[in-house]
Amino acid sequence: MNQKKVGFISLGCPKALVDSERILTQLRTDGYDITPTYEDADLVVVNTCGFIDDAKRESLDAIGEAMAENGKVIVTGCMGNEAEKIHQTHPGVLSVTGAHAYEEVVGAVHQYAPQVKQHDPHIDLVPPQGVKLTPRHYAYLKISEGCNHRCTFCIIPSLRGDLVSRPIGDVMDEAQRLANAGVKELLVISQDTSAYGVDIKYRTGFWQGQPLKSNMKSLCEALASLGIWVRLHYVYPYPHVDDIIPMMAEGKILPYLDIPFQHGSPAVLKRMKRPGNIENTLERIKKWRSICPELTLRSTFIVGFPGETEDDFNTLLDFIREAQIDRAGCFKYSPVEGATANELDNPVPEEVKEERFARFMEVQAEISKNRLQQKIGKTVHVLIDEVDEEGAIGRTKSDAPEIDGMVYLNGETELSPGDLVTAKIFQADEHDLWAEMTDFRDDI
Ligand code: SF4
Repeated sequence: MNQKKVGFISLGCPKALVDSERILTQLRTDGYDITPTYEDADLVVVNTCGFIDDAKRESLDAIGEAMAENGKVIVTGCMGNEAEKIHQTHPGVLSVTGAHAYEEVVGAVHQYAPQVKQHDPHIDLVPPQGVKLTPRHYAYLKISEGCNHRCTFCIIPSLRGDLVSRPIGDVMDEAQRLANAGVKELLVISQDTSAYGVDIKYRTGFWQGQPLKSNMKSLCEALASLGIWVRLHYVYPYPHVDDIIPMMAEGKILPYLDIPFQHGSPAVLKRMKRPGNIENTLERIKKWRSICPELTLRSTFIVGFPGETEDDFNTLLDFIREAQIDRAGCFKYSPVEGATANELDNPVPEEVKEERFARFMEVQAEISKNRLQQKIGKTVHVLIDEVDEEGAIGRTKSDAPEIDGMVYLNGETELSPGDLVTAKIFQADEHDLWAEMTDFRDDI
């Protein structure tokens, strides 16, 4: 495994701790490992405190220790305001930034300990442009690392190893701190969210003194208690996912599932070595929708996988029509160095891939358009992401940031990112919605 490791020293007050938490969450999301030892770390981040002289001295000492023990040190936090003093005392420090400079710190880590892996749209957990730490009202919460499956197009297991679930108490502490820091929406991510806890035999952990089982259902229940939006990504349609649907129907977690189906033809899925059985999946989706009609399904698919016939492709189109997949990303298959799928026979010619990609997108756009049309006239909750001179732009519970659609509230220039409002939808296209604000809410 060539995952880069970052050491982290967090000094100072609870506000500094929240900064540390945001930086650590982001680094974990970007695929960095956090290590407790200097020797293991590719570099060390020191989040300093500059409140009183003693705290400054302690910060300078901590930087000195990290320099001596590791040698590659990035400094952030309150004492970052005295960059000159830090550089004078410890001339080898790589970068110095002040408090709340999440983006700069994460950028410096990427610069001085770059990841070797290239972005892979089939399997990467975050969008290729990376995650913006602003707006700060949503955050990614990574619950595990690695994967127990061996999909033939994927090299994650050889890069990151088998599934390692984070202790549930740690995950919940991080979630709580993010919520306390004003985060209104948590996006739960991992390579296989529904497998959470398998590797640790669903052992019982503790959070706030209470026992809590390390499984997806308990995690969702605990996250629901935070009173903010909780959105699940990379869920596989295993039977136990059924347990989560009533929680969605009751409004405890968002009625949204991101399931990377990758295909709809059993023959192709078999060659991909994908988990799950697609015939049962259609039944399962129907059942979910009968329990929670609000459910939005997002997925990703690969067209042109080796051996994909015209029949297979038509089966895929039938699948997305029947499952009424609300949102879908589609990728033309391309080999990834080291993946076993590279040895499969019958590669699909590029022009056929192109043609299937275009047909897929056309069918998907039609489905999405019809489903969004049905929302016209409805009143929905909208979380505001940005505000410009034309109005506010937000998302409904059906839309994940950066990958799904937007809701435009023209004229609402007084709102701020992170506000939650209710709005009545009056227009839709195949991707986005337009709505009129009806109410400001201070609950979530
Ligand atoms: S489930 Fe398959 S595609 Fe996803 S990370 Fe695991 S091996 Fe890769």
